[in-house]
Amino acid sequence: MSDDTSLGSMPLFAGECEKQHLGKGIHMLRMWANVCIIESGDGVALFDVGLPFHGPHIVEELRSLTEKPVLYIIYGHGHADHAFGTPFILEDAERRGHPRPKILAHEALPRRFDRYRRMLPYHEHINRIQFDIPEGIPAFPWEYVYPDETVREEASIRLGDLTLELRHARGETDDHLWLWIPERKVACVSDFWVWSCPNVGNPFKVQRYALEWALALEEVAARSPEVMLPGHGSPLVGAGTVREACLEVSRALRYLDQQVVEMLNRGMWQEEILHSFRWPEEFSESPYLAPIYGHPYFVVQALLRQYHGWYDGNPSHLFPSTEAEVAREVLTMVGGEDKVLQRAGVLEEKGNLQLSLHLLDFVLAGGKEGVEEAVKKKAAILERLAGEEKSLIARNIYLAGARELRKRLESSRPGDSG
Ligand SMILES: [Zn+2]
Repeated sequence: MSDDTSLGSMPLFAGECEKQHLGKGIHMLRMWANVCIIESGDGVALFDVGLPFHGPHIVEELRSLTEKPVLYIIYGHGHADHAFGTPFILEDAERRGHPRPKILAHEALPRRFDRYRRMLPYHEHINRIQFDIPEGIPAFPWEYVYPDETVREEASIRLGDLTLELRHARGETDDHLWLWIPERKVACVSDFWVWSCPNVGNPFKVQRYALEWALALEEVAARSPEVMLPGHGSPLVGAGTVREACLEVSRALRYLDQQVVEMLNRGMWQEEILHSFRWPEEFSESPYLAPIYGHPYFVVQALLRQYHGWYDGNPSHLFPSTEAEVAREVLTMVGGEDKVLQRAGVLEEKGNLQLSLHLLDFVLAGGKEGVEEAVKKKAAILERLAGEEKSLIARNIYLAGARELRKRLESSRPGDSG
């Protein structure tokens, strides 16, 4: 896959924006999260409206295209980067004396907004890690503009001579809509397409839906779109390309779902499933499934969480001791922290970074005099792993972990004032 198409190729913070024309009255603002501008008759509809701080850029680009009023704002889903440029668009309408745009979303979206507002500090915290957002920059939206009308399964509106068909399916979220414009054979699909292995099992976030995501992509393909405007990255153009892309990703999701279901039916538990699922070469080589954001391993995690409870099959883990208690016993048994640190070093040299991390964790959880060295070693390994990792989410988790450890090292050092 060329960098040009990918999710990470547009910066998150800058208002960098590329305007793309994709047929009569169809435009896409390519930003971190794309904004679709549909223009017909006397007005405009916007599908997805970006991050809060992208609002001014969206208005500027929109007004370089047309003076017409925005009649509809449609939220593809309620994530922070898709439904939060609204205040600036409303302000623009007011300034121009236009009627207030009508805001449409799926019926589950207000519940999502309620949850976000109830758990703002938590979402600030996890988004800061996921996107590596520096302190001092808000990591989560604080201003929420709720929809005026909601859609359950489907709805259809007219915009000039165009029909805007809104369809619901669960995928990255439970409040996802995608838009079909039959007169132009254009599908706006928000995060049903992000130029990555679908972000089904995001390590931080609530349940996502692999099989329903697959079904949604099959439904998109069945309409034979000539153009598909994704939530992130470049548009897909050409009926053959769009169809092939949608069906390939849907096949991969179905394949993972099928494996998890079969293994659960055979009586396997999560640890075994996570180490035995298959991701064939045709998928790892596909330009549509690169693990640069989502990851097949994360998808399997999500399927496990969807289909079974938290018990992992080992009764020792039902009411477990703390990690520190277990670690102290192990350290005593092997004859001290030094031995564990030494072995962790050997494993690291051999390139088995993961196993080395597990050993260092015993010292970090239950050790005393070896902790400082374990902190240094673990931080270095995490940085090395981050350097090799393709998935933006996994990479940022490693980097945040390393940063935390280095902070711990600094705060445990006596100050030079005393
Ligand atoms: Zn998104």
